[in-house]
Amino acid sequence: MTDEERPPTPWLAASDPDPFPAPQELPSGADVVVIGGGLMGVSTAYWIARRGGSVLLLEARRLAWGASGRNAGIFLAGLHAMEDDTVLRKVLSEEGFDPGYRRTGHLALASSAEVWEQFRAEVARRPETATPLHALGRKGCADLLGMPIAPHFAGGRWMPDGHVIQPALLVRGLAAASRRHGARIRTGTRALRLVRDRDAGLRVRTTRGTVRAGHVVYACNTEVTRFCPTLRRFVRPVRGQVLQTSALPPLFAPGMAVDFGSVYWRQAPDGSIVIGGCRSASTSDHADEHLDPPVQEALESFLPGAFAGFPPFEVRRRWAGVMDQTADGKPLIGAVPWGNRQWVIAGFGGHGLPPGIAAGRGLAEAMDTGRRTGLEPAFDPARALPGHQEGKR
Ligand SMILES: Cc1cc2nc3c(=O)[nH]c(=O)nc-3n(C[C@H](O)[C@H](O)[C@H](O)COP(=O)(O)OP(=O)(O)OC[C@H]3O[C@@H](n4cnc5c(N)ncnc54)[C@H](O)[C@@H]3O)c2cc1C
Repeated sequence: MTDEERPPTPWLAASDPDPFPAPQELPSGADVVVIGGGLMGVSTAYWIARRGGSVLLLEARRLAWGASGRNAGIFLAGLHAMEDDTVLRKVLSEEGFDPGYRRTGHLALASSAEVWEQFRAEVARRPETATPLHALGRKGCADLLGMPIAPHFAGGRWMPDGHVIQPALLVRGLAAASRRHGARIRTGTRALRLVRDRDAGLRVRTTRGTVRAGHVVYACNTEVTRFCPTLRRFVRPVRGQVLQTSALPPLFAPGMAVDFGSVYWRQAPDGSIVIGGCRSASTSDHADEHLDPPVQEALESFLPGAFAGFPPFEVRRRWAGVMDQTADGKPLIGAVPWGNRQWVIAGFGGHGLPPGIAAGRGLAEAMDTGRRTGLEPAFDPARALPGHQEGKR
């Protein structure tokens, strides 16, 4: 196994052997060709196949090898309907797989009095119909964790309904279900460019040949800008760093964060802690999957600095991943206005797990019914057009 093929994260390592090995014979085409085998691509392919459509998914490397297998697996649903986990639960039960989706609760510690005030305001304006959220004082946080917290933490925000998930198992389980519904999935196949035939048909040129496509879906994170250069001004790559410690005694039952996610961590079932964030320690503006040593050092020293008497540990793995941050913080789900029969599902930034399943379903429905936007107009890719943004000012 070369370095390129060695699983960079515990999630990917735990999901081996890969049920979708490359290379497999490339079909001549499909009604829909999805480019990208992360959560968004696999979710879209799943729903298209479930609706009876012919779909071919192309993944350049291995399934979940991008952000979907490099995140921390913290599943913190927001207030938008697409983050309601009812759809996820239904899919897991219908398809019969278990990606370790567990209700652990989530505690965010406030690193200053200002953030603590923001937490309290958020709790006060929380709609009654939403899942509960509580503001906890310093003592409440320490009691909940069963250990003292550093003096600079002013309090915390406790969400009992916070969840964790093993993200690579989610993607690969969903891919296996898609295959059962008729989707074809080809890994080790990088899409290079889109070619239009004289009769206006579409073909996708790949590293392993060319495939015919009725429609094309770009589900390739920041690589969407390779196919849609118009999006370069709107989608910015942001690099996240993560590390995994050696196994430790039980310390953190809930998913954890500082403030609004400047540092985030969870203790995995094997006792190791997976911790990410500390982006402010970076001295580089690279946004790729390489390690950023100052950020890695900050991650390594964070827990001993925040919790007195934190046990010694070794670092088992370090990795980086890229997030696709949009200019307005909302995802792009729908038809691309500058290209006929091309669609995009991207721009989820550092928060893609809760919306992933419903976003794919929304796009599949839009494609089927001829609607331009999946789920709601606010996600319309047309808003990324320069004229559109200027018109809004
Ligand atoms: C470090 C980090 C931590 C995160 N933590 C969390 C978290 O705790 N909770 C949360 O909800 N979200 C988190 N996120 C965000 C979440 O992981 C993403 O929003 C989500 O995984 C995006 O899924 P995706 O399918 O759009 O992208 P990806 O998973 O990146 O999938 C895109 C795929 O496209 C493939 N590809 C690219 N170009 C091509 C091409 N030309 N041809 C074929 N295939 C191609 C790539 O290889 C990749 O597999 C985190 C992200 C990172 C990077």
